[in-house]
Amino acid sequence: MQIPGLVDPKPVPRKPMPARADGKRALLGLSKAQLREALIEAGIPEKQAKMRGQQVWHWIYHRGATEIDAFANISKDTRALLAQHFVVGRPEVVTAQVSTDGTRKWLLRFDDGEEAECVFIPDAYRGTLCVSSQVGCTLNCRFCFTGTMKLVRNLTPAEIVGQVMVARDALGEWPNASAPVAPRPTVVADDDDDFDDDDVAWIPGQNQAGSNYTSDGRMLTNIVMMGMGEPLYNFENVRDALQIVMDGDGLGLSKRRITLSTSGVVPMMARAGTEIGVNLAVSLHAVTKEIRDEIVPINKKYGIEELLSACADYPGANNARRITFEYVMLKDKNDRDEDAHELVRLIRKYRLPAKVNLIPFNPWPGSIYETSTPERVSRFSDIIFQAGISAPVRRPRGRDIMAACGQLKSSSEKITRAELDRRAAEKEDLWVD
Ligand code: SAH
Ligand code: SF4
Repeated sequence: MQIPGLVDPKPVPRKPMPARADGKRALLGLSKAQLREALIEAGIPEKQAKMRGQQVWHWIYHRGATEIDAFANISKDTRALLAQHFVVGRPEVVTAQVSTDGTRKWLLRFDDGEEAECVFIPDAYRGTLCVSSQVGCTLNCRFCFTGTMKLVRNLTPAEIVGQVMVARDALGEWPNASAPVAPRPTVVADDDDDFDDDDVAWIPGQNQAGSNYTSDGRMLTNIVMMGMGEPLYNFENVRDALQIVMDGDGLGLSKRRITLSTSGVVPMMARAGTEIGVNLAVSLHAVTKEIRDEIVPINKKYGIEELLSACADYPGANNARRITFEYVMLKDKNDRDEDAHELVRLIRKYRLPAKVNLIPFNPWPGSIYETSTPERVSRFSDIIFQAGISAPVRRPRGRDIMAACGQLKSSSEKITRAELDRRAAEKEDLWVD
């Protein structure tokens, strides 16, 4: 079956996002150009639109304002005009959980009632936010809880960026909104003759909150697109969202601190490198066709060799920016010494600047695999290390709140094994030749 869609892979069965009941549009998730257009459509004079766009951008992404009324250096009348047409557009937080190890998980609900989870994992020197790209997942890797969900839809850029905003809210990482605005304002004249707050703009990218705030010392330092969903089946929205996250006038996360994980959507990998440019992680999980076909079924479409040559061509990968190969350790399935040796051989064959992340399998209700023993994991890791390739074992985080890798699933439906198998078959029908 030829897969429909822009570039071979099928994005997903799409459930269109209905308009908001109040007819307003979310500012969150619009690119700078879209924001300017939207402001003009709402009646902001064209001459002012760029400057207003900068102000709005700054309030939303630098200051973390959640209400249009908080845009303090925009006049009351202009704020009222904006409020007639727009909302800022944060997702609703349905539940917020904290694990005994400090990991946090949020269940978010979007305008149409669909839900997705995101997870924050604090560490000694960094804090990583694990962001979802879809409600459910198009694919059905056998060891992944998300894969058991019926796919509902792609997340929009607003919903992807919204996860970062919610995490920043919860971590208290916005500059103090009551701090003085624009200590060193740039004067920009507006259309009228007076000099009022409409005439003051700030220099984009500059700290507007006064000296008590710096971006250093933030908890949220890294982002991984490793939550629910396959990001490369929602390429445009993920790209547009990450461009907002990386924008220096707002959230300003460096592309070096963002990692996109794919199960191996080969035709989209080069575009991910050139159009997003973040670090790449690949969910390899097996080194033979037989086993990878079983546990990562997209392998039936894009095989291991094809995947590894796409990795070799990934723009921007080098020894300083290695590709991460994720390898879930499943007892008696993919954890033999021969598998480790074969992994080394493949990495060498394709001359890949690689590191390997060994992830002990995180169980979930109804899962059919077991976690490899600690001795097996450590032996597997040693073999790879001895070949000169870094192969740390990832400590499971947040298992007690079902926040660990592969445990995310936004609905609490109970499903039988037969139903799981039926869903797996249905999904495969969508995309396997
Ligand atoms: N869909 C993307 C990104 C999300 S999954 C992908 O598959 O790469 C993030 C990582 O968690 C992937 O490497 C995935 O294979 C792994 N994972 C999924 N289920 C898991 C489980 N039960 N235990 C451990 N890791 C799991
Ligand atoms: Fe989807 Fe990734 Fe889970 Fe596979 S591992 S089912 S691609 S989320």
